[in-house]
Amino acid sequence: MSLRFNAISSINNNETNIPASTKITGIFGTNVFTLKTAREFLSDEAYKSLVTSIRGGKKIDRSVANQIANGIRAWAESKGVTHYTHWFQPLTGTTAEKHDSFFTLKGDGTAIEEFDGAALIQQEPDASSFPSGGLRATFEARGYTAWDPSSPAFIIEIGQGKTLCIPTIFVSYTGESLDYKAPLLKALEALNKSAVEVCNFFDKNVTKVTPTLGWEQEYFVIDEALATARPDLVQCGRTVFGASPAKGQQLEDHYFGSIPERVYAFMRDYEQESYKLGIPLRTRHNEVAPAQFECAPIFEEVNIAVDHNTLLMDVMSRVAKRHKLVVLLHEKPFAGINGSGKHNNWSMATDTGVNLLAPGKTPKTNLMFLTFFVNTIKAVHDYADIMRAAIASAPNDHRLGANEAPPAIISVFVGQYLAKVLSDIETRVSTKFDEQDEAILKLDLHRSIPELMLDNTDRNRTSPFAFTGNKFEFRAVGSSANCAISMTVLNTIMADTLKKFKADVDALIEKGDKKEIAIMQVIQKYIVESKNVLFEGDGYSEEWHKEAERRGLPNLKTTPVALDAMVTDKAKKLFESNGVYSHTELEARHEIELEKYIKKVQIEARIMGDLAINHILPAAIAYQNDLLSNVNGLKAAGLGETAYKSQLTILKEVSEHIQVIHDKVNLMVEARKVANNIADTREKAISYESIKSTYFDEIRYHVDKLEHLVDDEKWTLPKYREMLFLR
Ligand code: ADP
Ligand code: MG
Repeated sequence: MSLRFNAISSINNNETNIPASTKITGIFGTNVFTLKTAREFLSDEAYKSLVTSIRGGKKIDRSVANQIANGIRAWAESKGVTHYTHWFQPLTGTTAEKHDSFFTLKGDGTAIEEFDGAALIQQEPDASSFPSGGLRATFEARGYTAWDPSSPAFIIEIGQGKTLCIPTIFVSYTGESLDYKAPLLKALEALNKSAVEVCNFFDKNVTKVTPTLGWEQEYFVIDEALATARPDLVQCGRTVFGASPAKGQQLEDHYFGSIPERVYAFMRDYEQESYKLGIPLRTRHNEVAPAQFECAPIFEEVNIAVDHNTLLMDVMSRVAKRHKLVVLLHEKPFAGINGSGKHNNWSMATDTGVNLLAPGKTPKTNLMFLTFFVNTIKAVHDYADIMRAAIASAPNDHRLGANEAPPAIISVFVGQYLAKVLSDIETRVSTKFDEQDEAILKLDLHRSIPELMLDNTDRNRTSPFAFTGNKFEFRAVGSSANCAISMTVLNTIMADTLKKFKADVDALIEKGDKKEIAIMQVIQKYIVESKNVLFEGDGYSEEWHKEAERRGLPNLKTTPVALDAMVTDKAKKLFESNGVYSHTELEARHEIELEKYIKKVQIEARIMGDLAINHILPAAIAYQNDLLSNVNGLKAAGLGETAYKSQLTILKEVSEHIQVIHDKVNLMVEARKVANNIADTREKAISYESIKSTYFDEIRYHVDKLEHLVDDEKWTLPKYREMLFLR
């Protein structure tokens, strides 16, 4: 019996164990070295030093590091931990760990447990197996991980095994960053600096601005046995073949419906694991497509939120196994139904407790809100190409630019009230704008705020970047992406724009304008300059694509060309002047992203060939034989042609599909050989893109046709209706 039928028959034997309810506050953060725990396990000196360095202050010196390391070990051992690891986020897109035990031998052979400051602060994983985009070849063969005290240490539990994880950044010995976190931390600092300066126009008490992130993670859950019987899911995380089931998502009965029990048990389980790790999950629900779900936490500061999202993806995948389920984080695991994204809800908070993207309660705070609001729009307008590059990946190409999710055109949705506020400012702030005009306008704007608060229902689901009441929501991010990439870009372009804003306002003040008038003038100028990026309509529509073209907004549908924006002079200037990436780092990252693209498409192409030749054609040929012997038998029995006419028609159809599949797979192999000989990485990626667009859909079309024709008993790959609906 094929794996497929084994899998189907095993489904009814799965038990559903729904974990008992636990009070969340009772377990929340129990596996995290929080400041509260630190207070308990550290001396006053060590505690103070840790707190200062978390707040972005001084570096921790060696002797204090030893004390902190001892405290962390004491805590970890009290929880049964034996090993520790530096935990980091290399450019492969997953997380990396290398476990070492506390256990060590002294010179005389005595066994002791040890974890000193040096082991806490720095480690040297073998960097050569992580992607560096040529960086290490040019500079230095080694890289090291360095403790990031701003993200707390935590304990990962796998069954009975427990490992202490120290969040770190990963850099080369010459200082180039080799991970996602190092540039992110720099971008957050750049944002902090520029935002504080702009805040000080309104409030001198602001000394720190912290960007905030609340991600919404979409994912699919399917039965493990069925997934295992699909080599494409095992190797690529998506199905390369599969005919649409009779019932897909057309009834829209899955969205917000009741959660299937087996999945509910899994959710409860991963939520509890997440709570222990301090991940503040808040919502869970079904998504639009069958077998698709979403979870979202309470927002946190960006750095922590990024760690928590990567941790969550890892926790989900592991916990799923306990339930004999598989989590698919891929952007497009199934054709014909919705793909998965990861909305990045983003804002900025001051240390005086103000959300800079929340409309204010007084005319003055409203002006501060408008400043940050308009600067965000301006940043997205000026750097839309870089935003697009930040979300470019082989799997996300199936969403962006395809017929779903947000389009590849970056635009901003603000809702009708704010659109009106912007156009009011645009028309009423003129060159003759004086104090009286300013006072009236400010009051008028203030009056429209209560209406604005009601604007929450005014949602536009088709926009890639939307204002949703007190935050912007970057919706085009892919479900499997590390949020650090989009957050590095968003915070850097915002930092840069705010810097210019400050300079523009200062210049007007210098010329004698009153501060608030100067601010209004610059806001007006930015609105005029960036209104092209505003779009309130249906982002999926044909008209918008035409309109966007007229406006000159970029619409890059594929990754190899979308990535170009990372290495333009404009990008280099932006990232370098804000201290986020050097030119070489950008070039290296560009190279890495292209290579990732090539490899992913290459693997998919191979899997397609493998499945076509080893699964599809044998099933189709076996069915051909059945038809043939049936026809021959009927003929031998002396029956006329009408008796086997239909069989011949099917036979002919099956044979034609077999021919095309065979031919196309061979042509695709030849095209790959040509592509593999291209030396230039960008050209090679473009060549792979063309292989994908030339062959993938075509081969799939014929395979999916065969699925409808061939005897179900002979079909070895689990079908969509089984993967999406059986659990
Ligand atoms: P939605 O209707 O889009 O689901 P929610 O209010 O549920 O809206 O919020 C979605 C996400 O946005 C949550 O993770 C939430 O914590 C986050 N969020 C809310 N306010 C902010 C903020 N100021 N900064 C960043 N994220 C935020
Ligand atoms: Mg949302």
